Amino acid sequence: MSPQRKVLVIYTGGTIGMVMHPESGALIPFDFEHLVEQVPEIKRFNVDIRTYAFEHPIDSSDMQPGIWVQLATIIEQAYHQVDGFVVLHGSDTMAFTASALSYMLVNLAKPVVLTGSQLPIGTIRTDGKENLITAIEIASTYEDGKPVVPEVCVYFEYKLFRGNRTLKFNSEHFNAFYSPNYSILAEAGVTIDYHRTFIRPLPADSFRVMKDLDNRVGVLKLFPGISKEMISAVLNAPGLRAVVMETFGSGNGPTGHWFIELLAQRIAEGLIVVNITQCIKGEVVQGRYSTSEGFKKAGVIGLKDMTFEAAVTKLMFLLANYPNKAALKQALETSLAGEISMN
Ligand code: ASP
Repeated sequence: MSPQRKVLVIYTGGTIGMVMHPESGALIPFDFEHLVEQVPEIKRFNVDIRTYAFEHPIDSSDMQPGIWVQLATIIEQAYHQVDGFVVLHGSDTMAFTASALSYMLVNLAKPVVLTGSQLPIGTIRTDGKENLITAIEIASTYEDGKPVVPEVCVYFEYKLFRGNRTLKFNSEHFNAFYSPNYSILAEAGVTIDYHRTFIRPLPADSFRVMKDLDNRVGVLKLFPGISKEMISAVLNAPGLRAVVMETFGSGNGPTGHWFIELLAQRIAEGLIVVNITQCIKGEVVQGRYSTSEGFKKAGVIGLKDMTFEAAVTKLMFLLANYPNKAALKQALETSLAGEISMN
């Protein structure tokens, strides 16, 4: 008989554990005991479930890099005591947390499954129960003594995604997440069907946690008519170290001389500018059109098919951990945790 697996469930907040405020009717984070009471089924699992609840659960719109450090530390401290982790988290910023953790948990060899729900677990039609129960099952699934999904992932509405490839695309449907440029890792039906060729292999080196993050990152979302003042306000923001530029189509943008020159000047001064597309699916190929050639010449780094969430958090991670510019640039364009396609 296979050994009983141990899973640590970490409760950060989010709709899954929320209740309605009696006066305003707004959903507010509530304590973990309430959540567990709503799911008596988890006691029937042949899994040793341990729990860690944030003292002050949050709506994930209040998520901060400091909380990612806290989460990474909780995982680090319990790493050798349990077989897998489930992180209960609000869906709004779940893709950011999953992306950040995927970089911070280096050589991860155990499942870390983030999940949550669109309706609180205490409501009759909640999607929270299924999400929680299946997330625990995935986090505790081992074959021949090895975890089936040794990576940071998001489980939502019958699908398991690579965490740093996901985005929340729907605020109303239970089917709220999407991985536009990478296959799902598993689908839950009568059985859980794992898509093994897409799951990361076990790492060769030992697990370690890198906890430094630098949030001096800005965003420049282009649109037809964007003013010179707006562009230069972003690119010249005090203290800024890196900018995610969200461009059109395959990485294109306006070709005005002043814009390309300003980019080249700020990049020469040390600012890192990366290019991701506003399209949900597809990738940036700088130089495919003449409207992206100037970016390439100015030193903008094309981040291919990375999501916005994965790009912002990767910059925070690299800025804090790669003091050498050349190494940082190389790491940006390289897959650290499966966040970018390398073909
Ligand atoms: N506002 C909530 C949160 O992100 C939404 C959710 O949990 O689905 O915490």
